[in-house]
Amino acid sequence: MFKLPSCPHCNTVYRYKDTKNAMKQKENTCYHCQKKFKVKYFPDILALCAIILLPCIFTLILILSKMKTFDFFILFFIALLFVITAYFLIPFFTRFVKMKDKNRNEDFDKNENGGN
Ligand SMILES: [Zn+2]
Repeated sequence: MFKLPSCPHCNTVYRYKDTKNAMKQKENTCYHCQKKFKVKYFPDILALCAIILLPCIFTLILILSKMKTFDFFILFFIALLFVITAYFLIPFFTRFVKMKDKNRNEDFDKNENGGN
């Protein structure tokens, strides 16, 4: 939660802007490891909905109770603010998952001896 997604292959953390760009595409290629992944919204997006919806309803009820004359536009405006906030928070509630190649065998990384 409140964490930008990272590549499922190489764990490169994506920046906010890069995440937004990735969300526009059905499939993505990691700029770091060149492997494919796709954006997954569920179930994280439900947490975002709950986080936004509950304070939104609470605020609306609070304002309604203090309102002397019913003003739909004030309520609408406040609800809109919450929706806009949710929209900007979406990248923090997405996940990148590996793409499954149906026809191709995955190229497994050969573990070479050495390194550390
Ligand atoms: Zn990667």
